[in-house]
Amino acid sequence: MACVNVCPTGIDIRDGQQLECITCALCIDACDDVMEKIGKPRGLIDYLALSDEEAETHGATPKPVWRHVFRPRTMMYIGLWSLVGIGLLVALIVRPDIDMTVAPVRNPIYVTLSDGTIRNTYDVRLRNKHGDDRKFDISVSGDPSLAILLEGREGNSVVVPANETLLQRVYVTAPAGSEPAKSDRTEIILSVEDKVGEEQVHTSTVFNGKAQ
Ligand code: SF4
Repeated sequence: MACVNVCPTGIDIRDGQQLECITCALCIDACDDVMEKIGKPRGLIDYLALSDEEAETHGATPKPVWRHVFRPRTMMYIGLWSLVGIGLLVALIVRPDIDMTVAPVRNPIYVTLSDGTIRNTYDVRLRNKHGDDRKFDISVSGDPSLAILLEGREGNSVVVPANETLLQRVYVTAPAGSEPAKSDRTEIILSVEDKVGEEQVHTSTVFNGKAQ
């Protein structure tokens, strides 16, 4: 079947590149079939770069494919994407193997205990990216009077299973009359330390006191 008869858009591609062409390649297959049957070389109708159309129409040799691929613009794209790839790779390599996020519990923002101690609650999400279980020590800094308590645990340590995330409720307390207990807001830092890997991560948050 001739190439014009198979074209779904009804154009004759032998007149050159046309806007209606949807590059379905049916004409290429039809033309190759006919050329094969009459013993002529395939590829009479073929893909070509639009920029080369005029030169090739006048019998010029087609440009080698590598000259279409390695152009200043494509080299610039390759350079940019390589930089992005290297950046992602570096970020992956230097990322800490332990991680934490802190979400202060705002309802209520603080609780006054029977002895006047002010207590704030935080939901701390601990992430252990190591291949073995790790014991994390959690501590608070920002004011020497602050103390930390972990819900359901003895002491300030918690074991996070390998490659897992653990949600731990943490209480920070300030004794009655202490500066953080009297202040509206005190900037504090919650820290997590992995004693085995000697890694530490910190997150800043706020301790809410009983403003006078
Ligand atoms: S590629 Fe498809 S749409 Fe374009 S000329 Fe050939 S048959 Fe027609």
